[in-house]
Amino acid sequence: MASVDVEMVKCACPDCVCVIPVAKAVERDGKAFCCDECASGHPDHAGCEHAGCTCHG
Ligand SMILES: [Zn+2]
Ligand SMILES: [Zn+2]
Ligand SMILES: [Zn+2]
Repeated sequence: MASVDVEMVKCACPDCVCVIPVAKAVERDGKAFCCDECASGHPDHAGCEHAGCTCHG
């Protein structure tokens, strides 16, 4: 069994379902987000670019 040694974290945006590796997460205010849009709180109501995500502020 190969061990995948990557820590995964869910995006802190409430509506976002993305889970990203900690190393790739966008950190803002001590929280981890999947992308800049989520980290900024979707100021332009732009959606997450990830399929399946309904978050857009
Ligand atoms: Zn997302
Ligand atoms: Zn997100
Ligand atoms: Zn979001």
